Amino acid sequence: MGVIGAAPRSHNTEVAPRSHNTGDATVLGRRLIGMNQIRPNSAAARDVAHALHPYTDLVSHQTGGPMIVSRGDGVYVYDDTGREFIESVAGLWCANLGFSNERLARAAYDQMMALPFYHAFTGKSHGPLIELSEMLIERAPGMSKVFFANSGSEANDTAVKMVWYYNNALGRPLKKKIIGRLKGYHGVTVASASLTGLPNNHRSFDLPLPGFIHTMTPHYYHGALPDETEDAFATRCADELDRLIVAEGPETVAAMFAEPIMGAGGVIVPPRGYFEKIQAVLHRHDVLLVVDEVICGFGRTGAYWGSQTFGIVPDIITCAKGLSAAFMPISAVLVNERVFQALAAQSHEIGTFGHGYTYSGHPVPAAVAIEALRIYDEIDIVEHVRTVGPVMQSELRRRFAGHALVGEVRGIGMIGAIELVEDQDGRRNFPPAAKMVQRLVKHCEAAGVIARALPGDSLAFSPPLIMTEAEMMTMLDRVEEGLAALTAELA
Ligand code: PLP
Repeated sequence: MGVIGAAPRSHNTEVAPRSHNTGDATVLGRRLIGMNQIRPNSAAARDVAHALHPYTDLVSHQTGGPMIVSRGDGVYVYDDTGREFIESVAGLWCANLGFSNERLARAAYDQMMALPFYHAFTGKSHGPLIELSEMLIERAPGMSKVFFANSGSEANDTAVKMVWYYNNALGRPLKKKIIGRLKGYHGVTVASASLTGLPNNHRSFDLPLPGFIHTMTPHYYHGALPDETEDAFATRCADELDRLIVAEGPETVAAMFAEPIMGAGGVIVPPRGYFEKIQAVLHRHDVLLVVDEVICGFGRTGAYWGSQTFGIVPDIITCAKGLSAAFMPISAVLVNERVFQALAAQSHEIGTFGHGYTYSGHPVPAAVAIEALRIYDEIDIVEHVRTVGPVMQSELRRRFAGHALVGEVRGIGMIGAIELVEDQDGRRNFPPAAKMVQRLVKHCEAAGVIARALPGDSLAFSPPLIMTEAEMMTMLDRVEEGLAALTAELA
């Protein structure tokens, strides 16, 4: 495969120590350093003294300190001591072309030299915005127009606002409620966190907002009744959605958001026939379907879009991550013609579509995204996933399905998970306090693979899409080593 720019690099990106007075934070940092042997003035000490990390126990971090990643090369990253790790989740399901790619770097540099910034407000435009919009619409059947944002959360927030605007345009001021799914993940801004169906994104943040409701998780392994077939379970999921919409009043329900495969909630693959049945319910009640392709888009499931893998016909698509292969922050909201016409009419009546970010369609991330999409075409990323993905899936099953600690192995294409259970017959996880999957992640790190713990004691696999079969075997060898270490620890 013509994978570009995976040459090793030698520059040292370690953060240099500084000595300036940093006030109370440094005092706190020193106190903790004393307790935990974080070297004074080291990058770790400076991190603890000053940085507030996302998705981190902020107290434990002060004693545990950070893992400092200094450079990347293909599917590998290296910490500040030079230790090599294979990245089994492409960072955060996003570095689809790995961690070194000269063409993407050059696209950013060239664009910065030509036009480092311009905006898209009040009808302004520029080459990268025009070209990327065109490329996305060409690649997304049924979509008509593209709006750009900076993150998956912002894209979903934008989609929520578009849905509300759409129904106001159609003279349906009551039709505003938004349905997410328990264990769905759509981001962390106020609206997208409300859509997300995970307790830690709501707890203590006073979320979800009123008007955001959740339907059941389509996880057959845990959700099925005794002797229920996959088809019957999918029907029950659709029936529950129908009941929810009827109970709320269809005239008040505007849209449902769904990931084709739930990612951060546990890599949950829907049962066969699920989306067909769900879409029938949504059509019946004139409820829009917003498909969150933030993880599944750009080849991850073995088709260009996860929607294509599962036969979904979206009204709106949100995407991010793989759009620029994570080399630059950028996301997009794609709308079909029906939605666009309503937005257009309403904006005309008001005089403007009063929404947009300073960096909507920023030329530098847009130029990088254009290059990423070109590379996906040139190396035929979808075909690569169709070749390596089945190997990943069969190897996951061969290596882990029979393991005493593993309850379920699941996935499609180059996304998967193994779930740890205490009781295989009862499909029961370990108590959360045992932090079993977090311990597995630590053992995996010791074995040289960066892994990701998900809710429900699941370990995610979502490697860079350029991963070769040989690299895949190395990754899985190391995870096996980590699982063996966990097993030994429990014994
Ligand atoms: N949607 C999905 C499916 C995601 O997995 C994520 C992030 O992991 C988001 C939305 C939020 O994206 P971001 O973190 O860029 O805001």
